[in-house]
Amino acid sequence: MKTIDLRSDTVTLPTEAMYEAMRTAPLGDDVLGDDPTVIKLERLAAERMGKEAALLTPSGTMANLIGVLTHCGRGDEVILGDKSHTFVYEAGGISAYGGVHPHTLPNQPDGTLGIEQVEAAIRPNDVHFPRTRLICLENTHNKCGGVVLNPAYLEAVGTLTRRYGLKFHIDGARIFNASVALGVDVRQLTCWCDSVAFCLSKGLCCPLGSVLCGPADYIVQARRIRKGLGGGMRQAGIIAAAGIVALETMVDRLAEDHANAALLARGLSEIDGIDINLNTVKTNMVYFSCKPNAASDEALLERTAARGVLFLQIAPRRFRLVAHHGIDADDICQTLQIIADSIA
Ligand SMILES: *Cc1c(COP(=O)(O)O)cnc(C)c1O
Repeated sequence: MKTIDLRSDTVTLPTEAMYEAMRTAPLGDDVLGDDPTVIKLERLAAERMGKEAALLTPSGTMANLIGVLTHCGRGDEVILGDKSHTFVYEAGGISAYGGVHPHTLPNQPDGTLGIEQVEAAIRPNDVHFPRTRLICLENTHNKCGGVVLNPAYLEAVGTLTRRYGLKFHIDGARIFNASVALGVDVRQLTCWCDSVAFCLSKGLCCPLGSVLCGPADYIVQARRIRKGLGGGMRQAGIIAAAGIVALETMVDRLAEDHANAALLARGLSEIDGIDINLNTVKTNMVYFSCKPNAASDEALLERTAARGVLFLQIAPRRFRLVAHHGIDADDICQTLQIIADSIA
């Protein structure tokens, strides 16, 4: 029995081309600055994002942490969504390690923060208040269902941050999913922000690694903070080699994952006992809820797992499935059959 693992796109394994690239990559000591494969990946990533420079990190969490800490000092405030990964899922790192004060605003169902609400949240210059320094957005927005922020909205936020002299960071863990879904060059999604972090280890199939991109002097600072956090890696070309393959060959195929997610969502919407909002299915993620008459959460997870289908429970009666490399349309059809059998 084949396991159909839809828990996350992070379960993807390196491709054969990645293994080959990792085996043959020229290596150096990246902490000493002379790993040629890391240098090549960082240049490629910066160019793809339309930024001057880039920094390879072990994880997306560390890329965001370094990203925020490079913009903000202790006591500075960052405006971010209450459903953002950085606020919810990164162990409070910006506060714990950077003394950065989070000012959350409600994420709208489409993943945005209301422009007027952002403007109203910016602190006046007054000794009572923390200093607003940074605005963070997430694209695609994970907890909102993998929804996509479009260039017009990003321009509006970028214009606002410039007017108030603030910095703008994008958690673009899945920003290539956004660019593929919108059919725009990723630079149209990054041109308004100062910094952007994206993951190599999700839909792009690398075993690990994320990249933080921004201005050259910002990345110099970020490199020091990465070292301080213990994120300096020696022969990191091993990782970077896979990252180069990812950027060169794994981006366009994300459209297949989106098509599979859409297929899955449509099928789920036809199953009795399932509540799903098809409007939020824009990329590779599918969230659904169980109606009261459906099987219990435990029974559903146990029955589907017994037949090799894995997905995540994210709240009582609420579940997430993610399409990715290695999942094809047949797997989706099987998944639908197994969920339909298990939910009654
Ligand atoms: C996965 C993810 C991250 C962090 O990635 P890790 O590599 O797991 O630390 C950051 N932001 C978003 C939106 C993510 O989905």
